[in-house]
Amino acid sequence: MSTFSTPAILLRRSSYGDYDLIVTLLSLEKGKITVIAKNAKKSRKRFPGLLELFSVLHIECRNPRGRGLAFLQDAALENPFSSIRGNIMKTSYASYWAELVNLWLEEGKEQNRIYYLLRFCLDSLDTGIIGNEELSIIFQLRFLSFSGLSPNFSQCNQCRKKMDEINGYHLFFELAKGGILCKGCSSISLYSQNLSRGTVKQLLWIQENDLKTAGRLKLNQAALNEGLQFLEKFMVFHIGKEPKSLKFLRNLRSHMP
Ligand SMILES: [Zn+2]
Repeated sequence: MSTFSTPAILLRRSSYGDYDLIVTLLSLEKGKITVIAKNAKKSRKRFPGLLELFSVLHIECRNPRGRGLAFLQDAALENPFSSIRGNIMKTSYASYWAELVNLWLEEGKEQNRIYYLLRFCLDSLDTGIIGNEELSIIFQLRFLSFSGLSPNFSQCNQCRKKMDEINGYHLFFELAKGGILCKGCSSISLYSQNLSRGTVKQLLWIQENDLKTAGRLKLNQAALNEGLQFLEKFMVFHIGKEPKSLKFLRNLRSHMP
């Protein structure tokens, strides 16, 4: 097909020569796509104020040869999410989610659940209806689940003992196998880490409820901190490196009161 149109969220933009921009988007119809916006740098009138990070657009593209980069023909703005871009903490969270999507997804493979997840989280981040930290927990848990890497919090990964039947304030989590362990099973695992029962319960609750319900859960600060640190570590473990935006986010968070 030589032309297509789709809703899409802008994940990344970079200069290409003096005149053009290369833009990566998460589109509803075609998953992650990278397109070239001719003359977007040269003429401000070409795509006025449209090709900004995290903007939701409706784009039209043309690929006359049917291969290589498609050309961005037209773009209409559906939501600029200007409150996100005006706030450094919100921008940092959105950048982290966008980088995860960009690093993880294959080009051209439809991922509509991830599209709607990112859109929901950007929307809620922009309006502030759900806290930044809660949203990042929700985003990462759902993203892992849609990528087939959902952490197992419901039962011991080894002996299948139910979470509620495991004793102790601290549970153990094995990153490599992606699940909690009871005390007995953790003693034979070399790489498990502590995770408090309260945090595990709240993460499990978010996993089991729909997005809107999950967004109403108010986590206490200790569970928020532990949940975020855990999920970010789990994500880095699977990606094999620390995303640049995560490094920035962690640094920024450590300097906030
Ligand atoms: Zn066990």
